[in-house]
Amino acid sequence: MTSSGLSLVRRAAEAVRRTPRWQKRLVFFTVGVGTLTYACQDNQVLQICDGTGKKKKVVILGTGWAGASFLRNIDTSLYDIHVVSPRNYFTFTPLLPSVTCGTVEARSIVEPVRNIVRKRNGAFRFWEAECFKIDPANKKVHCRSDVGTNIDGNGEFIVDYDYLIVSVGARPNTFNTPGVTENCHFLKEVEDAQNIRKSVLKCFERASLPNLSEEERKKNLHFVVIGGGPTGVEFAAELHDFVNEDLAKLYPDVRKYVNISVIEAGGHILTMFDKRITQFAEEKFKRDGIDLKTNFKVVKVSDKDITMTNPATGEIAVPYGMAVWSTGIGTRPIIMDFMKQVGQGNRRALATDEWLRVQGCEDVYALGDCATIAQRKVMEDVAAIFRVADKDNSGTLTVKKIKDVLGDICERYPQVELYLKSNQMKGFHDLLKDSDGNSKELKELDIEQFKKALAQVDSQVKMLPATAQVAAQEGLYLAKCFNRMKICEENPEGPLRIRGSGRHRFKPFRYRHLGQFAPLGGEQTAYQLPGDWVHVGHSTQWLWYSAYASMQFSWRTRMLVVSDWGRRFIFGRDSSSL
Ligand code: FAD
Ligand code: MG
Repeated sequence: MTSSGLSLVRRAAEAVRRTPRWQKRLVFFTVGVGTLTYACQDNQVLQICDGTGKKKKVVILGTGWAGASFLRNIDTSLYDIHVVSPRNYFTFTPLLPSVTCGTVEARSIVEPVRNIVRKRNGAFRFWEAECFKIDPANKKVHCRSDVGTNIDGNGEFIVDYDYLIVSVGARPNTFNTPGVTENCHFLKEVEDAQNIRKSVLKCFERASLPNLSEEERKKNLHFVVIGGGPTGVEFAAELHDFVNEDLAKLYPDVRKYVNISVIEAGGHILTMFDKRITQFAEEKFKRDGIDLKTNFKVVKVSDKDITMTNPATGEIAVPYGMAVWSTGIGTRPIIMDFMKQVGQGNRRALATDEWLRVQGCEDVYALGDCATIAQRKVMEDVAAIFRVADKDNSGTLTVKKIKDVLGDICERYPQVELYLKSNQMKGFHDLLKDSDGNSKELKELDIEQFKKALAQVDSQVKMLPATAQVAAQEGLYLAKCFNRMKICEENPEGPLRIRGSGRHRFKPFRYRHLGQFAPLGGEQTAYQLPGDWVHVGHSTQWLWYSAYASMQFSWRTRMLVVSDWGRRFIFGRDSSSL
């Protein structure tokens, strides 16, 4: 501290010492009461209470990407937080394929839920149970635990809520293909990854037994991945590395019998990525000797073989040792039942509005893989938009009038901005030019011209993908809305209401895509950034490592993953079938 700083402190201390004791007490009392009053007022303003002054109860179903992200960001001092989930941990799913081959340990990619909220004050309760029914009319959820602790011994209990956050994710989709559930592994949970690992090693042990025919050894070491999406491709790549880098040395006699097949119903794998990545991955798989069967549709799986059809070959059955089914996601039964109740019976995921509120019921929000945002179409509201913009009811809009509301329109209907961007347009002016080609003369436009200008805009409405990125951003967004509920009720910060009056409380949810990785094995990872930037190579693999290490939820899991990677480089993967 400088000498002038020191003298300031000394003078302040001297002033306090000279102040009479009663005056000191008064100052402390005033400051104390002031702080207390401020704190109470602050709480009164912010705390979300019901009619009786009790904090409102928020019930969260699920502790995956969406639920855990909400939980990490909600201010637990404002609400009474209750969580129901059949597992008391969050799973870092992007590293699940690495668990299947022992590259990363299972415990390194899970974070206990109680750890997530432990360091924060406020009420929080967790129940390890499954919700099997949502009753929006009575604002209750029906849950069941494995443990029969209640009088009936069936483990069922009911939780009521003021706000419900549905984030139960999705289940693997078998498309009702016979034999899949009984004979294939899925790769969705930590236990699945552990079971796959055990199964791979069992296949190697079985193939090494004496007195087996060559055919039987081949059968045992035929690993089949059904589905050429990112998860299937990553697993196949991991398995190929595991076999070649570790198991080949441990099982040299049977190495030559190993065959890895990827079966894909479409014409290509990784179709959600840029074509260059798809091509690179297909060529790499070919070089690695992974048998890529595109345009093959699996129709039946028995304990011995997998039956598939292809326009050229017709129906064929191939024997296999282990199969992983990874063809996408389906709706959980609880969500199907809930959708029927709220009049969404014909959908595949719960429809919410842009604020993540479930359509057709009150105070229920849904996020992550179990829900999709049904983006409102501009053309459904075009007459109302015209009315809002035409403030003086003249029946026509000038460019100035449109400019006044364009910000709100773009916020409410993001497809407008996307359309302008994708057509290299700078503003509404260009939109008029696009529709008429004579914008220079067009000073005013009536409702029909306005409709014409906006006619193509809804083509840009996009469904958000079922990814961790989307789920985590939705959880964060919703928690922020909840934290600012009172403030935004008094000072709404959302866009103008097009059908009603005033403004929406919050800005609608906006997804920010940060790019995506596709690990392809052999220390090669493809990375696709928003826009047209694509990179494949070893450097991207390190980017992938660092991105995931930094995304791990806590320092504990981060350190565990990094040490697992280090261990694997030095000692190889663990090959015990434990
Ligand atoms: P989940 O994360 O599945 O969580 C659902 C939660 O709900 C779980 O806690 C579950 O136990 C619980 N639950 C289930 N049923 C009930 C019930 N009845 N009552 C109460 N709770 C219930 N996405 C990416 O963006 N990048 C990747 O690299 C990536 N890799 C992936 C790799 C694999 C192997 C898998 C399977 C997925 C991957 N994903 C990736 C997708 C991503 O994991 C999902 O999109 C994400 O998990 C969705 O989050 P969620 O919270 O909706 O569901
Ligand atoms: Mg979703």
